[in-house]
Amino acid sequence: MKNIKDFNLEELKQEFINLGEKPYRADQVFQWIFKENVTSFDEMTNLSLNLREKLKQNYTLGIYRIIKKQVASDGTIKYLFDVLDGNAIETVLMKYHHGYSLCVSSQIGCKMGCKFCASTGIPFARNLTAGEIVEQLLAVERDEAISISNVVFMGIGEPLDNYENVVNAIRILNNQKGINIGARHISISTSGLVPKIYQLAEENIQCTLSISLHATTDEKRSNMMPINNQYNIAELIKACKDYIAKTNRRISFEYALAKDNNDNLEDAKCLVKLLKGMLCHVNLIPINKIENGQYDKSSNENILKFRDYLNDHGITATIRRELGSDIDAACGQLRRKNLT
Ligand code: SAH
Repeated sequence: MKNIKDFNLEELKQEFINLGEKPYRADQVFQWIFKENVTSFDEMTNLSLNLREKLKQNYTLGIYRIIKKQVASDGTIKYLFDVLDGNAIETVLMKYHHGYSLCVSSQIGCKMGCKFCASTGIPFARNLTAGEIVEQLLAVERDEAISISNVVFMGIGEPLDNYENVVNAIRILNNQKGINIGARHISISTSGLVPKIYQLAEENIQCTLSISLHATTDEKRSNMMPINNQYNIAELIKACKDYIAKTNRRISFEYALAKDNNDNLEDAKCLVKLLKGMLCHVNLIPINKIENGQYDKSSNENILKFRDYLNDHGITATIRRELGSDIDAACGQLRRKNLT
């Protein structure tokens, strides 16, 4: 059966035409699903019984079951969802002064193999569909009775390796008739799939692009992130410049600081050289050590020095607040879990 949440509004209208229904019915159903966040077709009370039956026969609403919910001391919540096929994914809800931000997964597992990330090491299972991505937000909003204002694609998976579904999920999240989160409140984070960055620049989506850079020499970056062997730093930066020129959007570079690896002033100097003149921002992440990981967190002193060096040399840099580390919900700690 098809998951009705996989369709953006235009596609849903086409589905309804194929079912012999009027397209405006798709508007109504879209609102029930994404605005009212209902969990059954029976709640769609302005539809005829006949149409509700037809929908039940053809579609599911893909409602997630919560397997586990953990609340961190800072209020961050990590969910483990049953995605209904024997797999499970993690989603993290963070509370900031400006509202709730949700960190969503885009794949079950990840192929990228970054050495410092807990999502590495468990085999890749499959892409999440657009509906499965959006259901993470709907399930959390139902559970906590809240409205989420920001979505970041920084959970498990490489969003640009699941390009079509991620872009479709963003179109659904954006739609004013449904969830209505502006694209500027949505961030896609990528390990650097260069051709997809060029492709994204051509879409008419105003979302924020975050690049997981983490190193300034190819040797160091390839050690941390195998994807760098495929697309090196020069190619990546060129694609970023193209993205900025085409979209006029500021890029956010993520840089996870690991002790004695990429955290000394030489590295900061190289980073300034690399990013000079670009419309960008650097997000410094104190690296979270994973089990059996080879990278340790930098000292606070080094992290501050690194930030100050960037700021003093014309590159805006901030240190990401660590949220949820006591429940393994911080950056790089998410894992795909099997139910069995
Ligand atoms: N695949 C995407 C998105 C997922 S990770 C990407 O690579 O960007 C979200 C961010 O957390 C990325 O910048 C990633 O490099 C970073 N990250 C992964 N493991 C980490 C760790 N152990 N400590 C700190 N940041 C980590």
